[in-house]
Parts: sequence; C-alpha cells; structure tokens
Amino acid sequence: RLRQGLSRSRESFVGQLNAAVAEFKDAEDEEFWERVEEILVSSDVGVPTTAKLVAELEQEALRRNITSGAELKRLMVEHATKMLEGPVELDISHKPTVILMVGVNGTGKTTTIGKLSRFLPGTTMFAAGDTFRAAAIEQLQQWGERTGTPVIARDRGADAAAVAHDSIQAARREGTDVLLIDTAGRLHTKVNLMAELDKVHRVIGRQMPGAPHEVLMTVDATTGQNGLRQAKMFQEVAGLTGIILTKLDGTAKGGIALAIANEVGVPIKLVSVGEKVEDLHPFDAREFAEALFG
Ligand code: GDP
Repeated sequence: RLRQGLSRSRESFVGQLNAAVAEFKDAEDEEFWERVEEILVSSDVGVPTTAKLVAELEQEALRRNITSGAELKRLMVEHATKMLEGPVELDISHKPTVILMVGVNGTGKTTTIGKLSRFLPGTTMFAAGDTFRAAAIEQLQQWGERTGTPVIARDRGADAAAVAHDSIQAARREGTDVLLIDTAGRLHTKVNLMAELDKVHRVIGRQMPGAPHEVLMTVDATTGQNGLRQAKMFQEVAGLTGIILTKLDGTAKGGIALAIANEVGVPIKLVSVGEKVEDLHPFDAREFAEALFG
C-alpha cells in the first residue's frame, strides 16, 4: 500500500527522481544536483532537509567516485534510511501504560486510537479527552464498540484533565494494560493548546509518576509542509515521544517523513496506509526509503 501510494502517478516523486537519476553520470554535474533538489523540495522534503541530504549525497558520490544511476540510487536509499532511523518501539511496559494521543483534527487521531487497540498486545481502554467536540466523543465510542474496548467519557465541555483522571482510575481498577487518551486537536491558539495539554499532562503525572509513557502525534502525510509545522508546534507544546504518519496511501509524495525525522527530532514510530484496523504498521526506515526512492 505504501509503495502503491507513493508511486501512484507518473508525475510522482518516485517517477521524477527515477527519470533524473537514470541520467546521472557525473557527481560534478551541478545541474543534476539542482534537479534532484527541485524534486525533493516539491515532494515535501522541504528546503533545510533537502539541502542537507543533497550535500551529503554529492560529497559521498564524489568521494566514492560514483558514476552510475543505480549506484547513486543505492546511496540515496542508504542516506535516507539513516535519516529516518530511530527507536520505533513503544514503551508499553507499565501497568497501565498511559499513551497520550495528540494531533490536529482530521489527521486520523481517533481512527488511529481505534486501530491501536488491535495493534497493541493486551487489553486497552480509551479516554475521550477531546471534550470540545461532541462528535469526537461519539466517534471514540463507536471505535470502542467496534473493537470491544471500554471508553471513559464525560459530557461535551467537561474538563479534559478530569476525563484523564477518571480513566487512569478506571484502568487501574480494571487491570488494563494500555490506556489511550484522546486530546483536543482543534487548531486554536498555541497558548490555549499548551494550557490544555499541560494540564492533562500534569494531572496524569501526579496520579501516576512517569506517565504519560508515550505522547504520540498523528501527522497527515497528505498535508505536506503543514504537517511539519504542526509537528514542530506539538513537539514544543506536548513533548512528543513519537510520530504516527497517517494517510500514506493518499499521497504520491511522502518526503514529509524525511523533513520530520530531520527537523523535529522525534522518531516516526508507526505509519497508517488506510482506514481499516489492519492498516497500521510499525515504521520501517529502510522499507520507507526504498519505497520513496523507487
Ligand atoms: P481525527 O479528527 O484526527 O480524530 O481524525 P479521524 O480519525 O476522524 O480521521 C479523519 C478521516 O481520515 C476519517 O475519514 C478517517 O477514516 C480517515 N483516515 C484516517 N487514517 C487514514 C489513513 O491512513 N488513510 C486514509 N485513506 N484515511 C485515513
């Protein structure tokens, strides 16, 4: 699905890059590197990460005296893999493990929480911490029914931190393995977002020292550089432990993964390539780099 998505159109990143690389002969050809830069930037890799990657590739290609497109492609995969690599394991060794889910509305946060209940070993519980939208609470309850997962919720407008508090109590009482706490994802001011996430964080930490054990953010791969900006902001505000890149089935680009890995400094831990429960997968840096560079 990942490979299919990323190479969907002839004008895709993979297609353009392949066409350029097929003509590679000489690492001293500045025009060639400029063309590669253009393709990378237009595939959401962004300027700073593109500059870094191309500078590394150019130096290495010169140093190793690379003269064929096939060799260069291997080099690209190698460098991209190195950039994308990070610890992908989720820390789920606690009882309960508390995972705070953050991200902008529409990025697939609720769907991912639902999928995680199947993906993770052991029992799970959901907490409807996005108390701002009635639809968010209902949607989580639907996922609860669909996956047989208990859902802790209060009415719309309730204090999100109170819901988090209730849910930790409930998870302890029930002996739940992993508690997944949803949070509001409306794009309001940074100050409000910070205040709300901070409070939820503090309440959780007071009730269970060391928690939350993971703070995972969903980033919609189809939103390009917006996703990068969102990730930087949430990293500042919420202190992320991992990123879940969603909707990779819906983009012919995918360069956003490189930008996030290089500029946000938070590992991508999971990827989502569809709406079904089985569409959530651990992030594999090499597989991703290979899909990205054809
Ligand atoms: P939330 O507002 O962040 O909670 O987002 P939702 O979980 O409601 O997801 C928004 C929409 O994106 C829904 O229609 C989901 O079915 C869809 N969605 C979520 N993840 C994926 C994915 O990986 N691929 C595709 N194609 N759609 C997805």
